Amino acid sequence: ESKSEGRNKLKVFDPSTLHARQLQRQIVGELREAIRSDQLVLFYQPIVELATGRIEGSEALVRWNHPVRGLIMPDHFIPVAEASGLIAELGRWVLRAAVEQLRQWRENSLTAQHGFSMRINVSAADLQSLEFVDDVRDALAKTGLPPESLVLELTESAIIQNNELDRYTLASLHRLGVGLEIDDFGTGYSSMGYLRKLPVDAVKVDRQFVQELSKDSTQLGFLAAIQQVIRSCGLQGIWEGIETAEQAEALRSIGCTSGQGYYFGRPLPGPEFTDQLSQQQTWPA
Ligand code: C2E
Ligand code: MG
Ligand code: MG
Ligand code: MG
Repeated sequence: ESKSEGRNKLKVFDPSTLHARQLQRQIVGELREAIRSDQLVLFYQPIVELATGRIEGSEALVRWNHPVRGLIMPDHFIPVAEASGLIAELGRWVLRAAVEQLRQWRENSLTAQHGFSMRINVSAADLQSLEFVDDVRDALAKTGLPPESLVLELTESAIIQNNELDRYTLASLHRLGVGLEIDDFGTGYSSMGYLRKLPVDAVKVDRQFVQELSKDSTQLGFLAAIQQVIRSCGLQGIWEGIETAEQAEALRSIGCTSGQGYYFGRPLPGPEFTDQLSQQQTWPA
């Protein structure tokens, strides 16, 4: 203990560390302010039925519209939010904004009453918070959305942290009826055995698998095997990072049903994604 204290003291006198800390503190302060003053904005990317091209859902992806620095991508501030404890507040903001957007789409008959789902990304830290389940329940109650129209994306590492609280939170969310999905599947180091044990409904396969598709001919067989494992566990497989028509066709040919990627559409701000939805098709209320 005293040793590490000594190290910390030394660091305080290191001007570059001092600067880094001040910068960090400034960013945290700005981010806190950003959440409260609605500088965050959600972009939406379509999830598509591969056989028909129909939009079957959307993933909400957060950006920070910084007054000076412009649009900041999540990889640059989600880690800051996680490290500073702001992630719970940020997650709440995302949850509320996403369900409100879905409520509006449904109200305007832009999405089918059944089948269209809004996916949001949930941080590992959110599972550690007992309030998270209440937040989700409240968000659904306020908007009157059916629970299955909301799907929570969790990374493998978040979902497999083998602690009591996480398992309790997962079970509670599952009981609420919201969809649970493993994000970035295949990037972790765990065995696949958990697919059969966890209360999850869907698996989003990490984009690295699709992107390696053109490299060699055995890769397609490998993807087919992954899809088969997912299917045999009774789960929906969604393939991430589809950038070309060839990739989409290859995935279709091995029985994949759902995909996401720049080929079908880049993440768009709410109003533009709304246009895309209304051009595609409207459903009777
Ligand atoms: P993710 O959940 O795996 O999201 C997919 C990322 O891949 C998004 O990056 C998306 O824009 C990008 N992407 C989609 N299609 C393609 C494609 O065809 N090719 C390539 N190269 N990339 C594609 P983005 O928006 O920068 O988000 C990065 C990560 O930040 C997300 O990865 C997610 O882990 C995290 N994130 C985003 N929004 C939230 C949020 O609201 N809360 C939390 N906790 N994390 C979030
Ligand atoms: Mg995701
Ligand atoms: Mg992903
Ligand atoms: Mg990711």
